Order: sequence, then structure tokens, then C-alpha cells
Amino acid sequence: MTIGKIIDGKAFAAGLRDKVALGVAAFAASQGRKPGLAVVLVGEDPASAVYVRNKGKMTVAAGMESFEFRRPAHIEEEELLDLIEELNADDRVDGILVQLPLPAHINEASVIAAIDPAKDVDGFHVVNAGRLATGQDALVPCTPLGCIMLLKDELGDLSGLEAVVVGRSNIVGKPMAQLLLAENCTVTIAHSRTRDIASVVHRADIVVAAVGRAEMVKGEWIKPGATVIDVGINRVTDTEDGKGRIVGDVATAEALAHVRAITPVPGGVGPMTIAVLLRNTLVAAHARAGLPAPE
Ligand code: NDP
Repeated sequence: MTIGKIIDGKAFAAGLRDKVALGVAAFAASQGRKPGLAVVLVGEDPASAVYVRNKGKMTVAAGMESFEFRRPAHIEEEELLDLIEELNADDRVDGILVQLPLPAHINEASVIAAIDPAKDVDGFHVVNAGRLATGQDALVPCTPLGCIMLLKDELGDLSGLEAVVVGRSNIVGKPMAQLLLAENCTVTIAHSRTRDIASVVHRADIVVAAVGRAEMVKGEWIKPGATVIDVGINRVTDTEDGKGRIVGDVATAEALAHVRAITPVPGGVGPMTIAVLLRNTLVAAHARAGLPAPE
């Protein structure tokens, strides 16, 4: 039995961060300032706090300026919108990221809409979503952009390949489908109402799973030789030792016997997300300075 390749997202992300750091140094030398990323954290959610801390550390490690704004969970929406306005007007800030989810009394869509699209390094603003969908230059959501980078590194030209994206969220599934379409794939989006999802997935040369259901995509669903990108992050508890661990949306051990290549969880897509965020910040800094996009 042949076993597929495990795609090393951790190593790829480290290489990308190194490349971004070189771009940051060149930008700072020519512009006399470092690119800056502002991260806004509302509330005390421990997982969000860990993400924000990591983002700050990686931003500084890449040679950029990191600005962190922590606000209590009871902040009024107006106050948060005022903070976004300040950051929009602050020339030291090239990228603004509001850590999601926000507390229930705050309208996430209004907050995202308040971010200057030129600083929207998460790529969630409708202007950037619309630009992506219409083939114009856009700031693209970090996770799907990271997935496409891994796919192109693994497969080269994606033109003509059959791609199935499982999941249709605005932050992963939909932009993922747009990126695959832009690479000339034939794209299907599957979701919770899709009939016979196993046979839909079985058509695919490329499967991207972004569902949030532990090991939902079974090995036998996968066409022999397909490449699988597993975006899912699911915490499960082992029945044997009661210990918690993280698994993806794909039953990796089974899938390995079918795939050409697959991203592991952890160590696949996860590390790409922050690396692409840094790259998006550098891209935004270039665009704001009137410079062509970095390589
Ligand atoms: P959402 O919950 O927003 O979307 C999940 C999607 O999966 C929905 O479109 C839903 O369909 C679909 N779905 C749910 N159940 C089924 C099912 N039984 N069969 C088929 N489709 C189904 O999640 P996200 O897109 O935000 O995230 C998806 C996963 O990716 C999560 O595990 C998340 O933690 C992870 N993630 C990882 C990141 C990383 O950096 N690696 C970054 C972002 C997310 P419907 O629309 O019909 O309800």
C-alpha cells in the first residue's frame, strides 16, 4: 500500500516568514519606517488571547511594528468603532485586525465594515471580498490564501483540476472557492445541505475541508491521488487516556492510503495563517506607500 505525503505547513510557513522579514527590512530601508500591524482584542477569551499574543510575537520577529489594543468585553460598539477610526487615520498602522468572535452585543459586520479596506489584512471587508470575486487586486483572507500557496507548491499549475471545498463560510470556504476558481480549477462548494457528500468529494483532485467537525471526511471518500488540505481545528478527548488533542476535519490516518498529499493537523494550515497575515500586512504597507506588491 502506498502512503501519501504529509505536507509540512510549519516549514513552508517558516520560509514565508523569512521572506516577509526580508521584504520588511527593504521597506523600512526605503520608507524610513517599519510596516505596522494593529490587533484589537475584545474580552477575555483565553484562546483569542493566545492567538493575539502569538500574532504580536511573530509581527515583531518579522521586523514590523506591533500595536495591541485590549478592550473589556462590555465595551460599547460605538467605542470600538471610534478605536477603528483612530487606527484608520494612524499612518504608522498598515494593517488592522479585530480578533473574532466579538461579544454578542457587538455587530461584527459593522465593525469589519468600519475598517479601511486598504488596511483590512484579514480580507473580510466586503470591498476586498468583492475585489477577490471580480478578479481585482485584493487583500485576501489569510487561511485560504495559505491553502492556495501550499497547493501550488505541491501541485504547480492547478488549471483544469476538479476542486471540492467542504464548507461555505465567509472567512474560509467562499474565498477558498474564489481562489481556486482564479487558478482555473473546476470548483464545487459542498455544505451541510449537500446530498451524498461522499460522492461529491470523490470527484475531486483537490479537497479542501473547512467544516469544524472532527474527522468528518473519511478516507474512502477521497479519490486515489487527490491532494487534501485540512483546515479544521477540532479539540477531542481520547477515550483511552482521557487526554485532549487537536484533530482536523479529515480522518488523516485513513486518508493517507488514498491521497497524493495531505496537510496534517496540527502543523499544516494553522502555521500558514499567521505567516500570511504578516505577508498581507507587508502587501498593505507597499500599496499604501504607492509601491508595487512585494514578491
Ligand atoms: P463555520 O462554522 O463558519 O463554517 C462551517 C461550514 O461547514 C459551513 O458552511 C457548514 O455548512 C459546513 N458544514 C457543517 N456541517 C457540515 C456537514 N455535516 N457536512 C457538510 N458541511 C458541513 O467554520 P469556519 O469556516 O470558520 O471554520 C471551519 C474549520 O476551520 C473550523 O474547524 C475552524 O476552527 C477551522 N479554522 C482554521 C483556521 C486555521 O488557521 N487553520 C482558520 C479558520 C478556521 P452550512 O453553511 O450549510 O451551515
